[in-house]
Amino acid sequence: MAELSEFELIRRFFTHPTRHTQLGVGDDAAVVRVRRGMELAVSTDMLLSGRHFFRDADPRGLGHKALAVNLSDMAAMGATPRWATLSLALPKAEAPWLRAFADGFMQLARKHGVDLIGGDTTRGPLAICVQIMGEISVGQALRRAGARVGDDIWVSGHLGDAALALAALTKRIMLKPPELETAMRRLHAPAPRVALGEALRKIANSAIDVSDGLLADLGHICERSRVAAVLEFERLPASAVMRRYLERRVARAALLAGGDDYELCFSASPARHRAILAIARRIGLTLTRIGTVRRAVRGAPLVTVLALDGTPMNVKYGGFEHFR
Ligand code: ADP
Ligand code: MG
Repeated sequence: MAELSEFELIRRFFTHPTRHTQLGVGDDAAVVRVRRGMELAVSTDMLLSGRHFFRDADPRGLGHKALAVNLSDMAAMGATPRWATLSLALPKAEAPWLRAFADGFMQLARKHGVDLIGGDTTRGPLAICVQIMGEISVGQALRRAGARVGDDIWVSGHLGDAALALAALTKRIMLKPPELETAMRRLHAPAPRVALGEALRKIANSAIDVSDGLLADLGHICERSRVAAVLEFERLPASAVMRRYLERRVARAALLAGGDDYELCFSASPARHRAILAIARRIGLTLTRIGTVRRAVRGAPLVTVLALDGTPMNVKYGGFEHFR
């Protein structure tokens, strides 16, 4: 297949109309204008072939996911995503692959009003690096460090389906074909919770997106906020598929510590309970209260999960292999 020149490739696949950009793709740098009273939230996430996705991964899905994981970081900050850059290392420049990849990326970008304003393209082992920039009113960014003792802990959507799909792909669990299909959608086409992040700006005291698993990511909130968390296992939002397999250790591990869900975990004062349920109704997304922020105790785990009978479960945050 004929290879495209770098110039041709950028022009054909990565030059798109912009909505709120002074100068986009084509110059030595892009120029954007942050509105008065706003701050810029900046984040970047890299996806590497063989590490974050399988070598033969569907390019359209990759384009979607590369942007989705970055949008999720904006959501976790409560920022409104506005600009992205895309840096690509490609083994070869093939038009059909690039067309599908760019479509997946741009479809999600348009949905969220994000302008693609630049990037870099080079030959090399497949790697995708996206930088995202968003706006947030001065001082309103949601941080990991804001959780307070007594806060309710909430999570959006359902947890663990992406990890369940991965477990099925790597033959650690058998799912029926329709179940696998449902779970795979969560793995390959995560929906970043941007509207939720925006709605939580004056409501949540802390927030994080669940990319490494609930226990690990809630652990980050606890560390940064110098608090502990107590969760109730039976409150954790499990999808219909997940519920069917909860007797299996690999499913429980996916629910508690599976990565790649891109839901938001946040804490808020109990006084915000009704406001949060109103947000859930308004944006059409399940929000579940899963536990409480407690004082940190030296030597005790940051995150405790209580079983139905009220006793702590034997889990260790961050580690799959520690599950019983
Ligand atoms: P430079 O030599 O200054 O690095 P390049 O030739 O790499 O410029 O890029 C030319 C223009 O195309 C720049 O505006 C750059 O931001 C943009 N660009 C390069 N690769 C991509 C990409 N994959 N996606 C979007 N824009 C890109
Ligand atoms: Mg360059």
